[in-house]
Amino acid sequence: MPESQCRVTLLSHTPEALSLVYAAFRQCYHQGFVGDMWPRLLAGEINRDKQAAFVSRLMESGHESPIEHVSFTFAIEGISRACTHQLVRHRIASFSQQSQRYVDGSEFDYILPPAIARIPEAKARFEAFVAEVGSAYKDLMEVLESAGRGDKAKEDARFVLPQAAESKIVVTMNCRSLLNFFALRCCRRAQWEIRRMAEQMLALCREVLPEIFNVAGAKCEQLCYCPEGERFTCGRYPLKDAASSGE
Ligand SMILES: Cc1cc2nc3c(=O)[nH]c(=O)nc-3n(C[C@H](O)[C@H](O)[C@H](O)COP(=O)(O)OP(=O)(O)OC[C@H]3O[C@@H](n4cnc5c(N)ncnc54)[C@H](O)[C@@H]3O)c2cc1C
Repeated sequence: MPESQCRVTLLSHTPEALSLVYAAFRQCYHQGFVGDMWPRLLAGEINRDKQAAFVSRLMESGHESPIEHVSFTFAIEGISRACTHQLVRHRIASFSQQSQRYVDGSEFDYILPPAIARIPEAKARFEAFVAEVGSAYKDLMEVLESAGRGDKAKEDARFVLPQAAESKIVVTMNCRSLLNFFALRCCRRAQWEIRRMAEQMLALCREVLPEIFNVAGAKCEQLCYCPEGERFTCGRYPLKDAASSGE
C-alpha cells in the first residue's frame, strides 16, 4: 500500500478560448452578429492583446457570465477521499470519480498528511493503521465472497476504507466557476491538500488562458486585503478596515 502524491493533468479545454470569450462579450454590446465576426477572429484580424484588453475591462466591471462559455477538464490522481469530498462540494462543475463499489481496494494507496509525516511516532501509527485497514478489507472480502455476496463484496468491504484512501477523479469547470474555486481554495486558510491541488490546476489554466487566470487565486490577491476576518486571517494582507484606513 504505497503513499501517493497529487498529480493533475489537463485533459482538454474549449478551443479558441480567448476568442470565444471575446465573441461572447462582444455580442452583448455589438449591433452586428458575432457569427460573422468569428472567421475574422480566427484569422487573427483582431489581435490577442486587443481581445484580452476588452475582456479584462469588462471583467473588472463584474460582468463575468461570458467566461462561462469556456471550460477546462482535469484528470486528478493521488488525492484523498477527504480532498475529493471537499472538491465535489463545488456544485458548478461536473465530476466522474473512481468507484469504490467497482474498483478493488485491497491494495489501496493512501495520502500521508505532511504534519504526520514529520513526526516519526505519528507516521508509524498512521502506517500501522493503514496496514490494518488493508488486512481488514481483505478479510471482509473473503468472508463476504464465501457468504455469496459475489461482485457486491467490494461495495460492503469499502466501508472500512479511511478518508486517507487515494482517489482519482475527472473534473470539468467553466472559467467562472474556476475563478470562484481558486478564490476559495488557493487561500492559505483552505486545507493543505485541496490548496496544493488547486495551485496545480491554476498553473495549467494560466498556460492556456493567462488573460483570465493571471489575476486568479486567493481572494486577497484581487482585493489587496484579507476578507477572512481577524480570527482566520493568515496575515499576508491587512484586514479590510486596516487596508481602507491605510494602516
Ligand atoms: C475554508 C473553507 C472552509 C469550509 N468549511 C466548511 C464546513 O465546515 N462545512 C461545510 O459544509 N462546508 C464547508 N466549506 C465548503 C463551502 O461551504 C462550499 O460548499 C464550497 O467551498 C463550494 O463553494 P461554492 O458554493 O462557492 O461553489 P459552487 O457550489 O461551485 O457554487 C458557485 C457559486 O454559485 C452560487 N450558488 C451555487 N449554488 C447555489 C445555491 N443553491 N444558492 C445560491 N447560490 C448558489 C454561489 O454564488 C456560489 O459561490 C468550506 C469551504 C472553505 C473554502
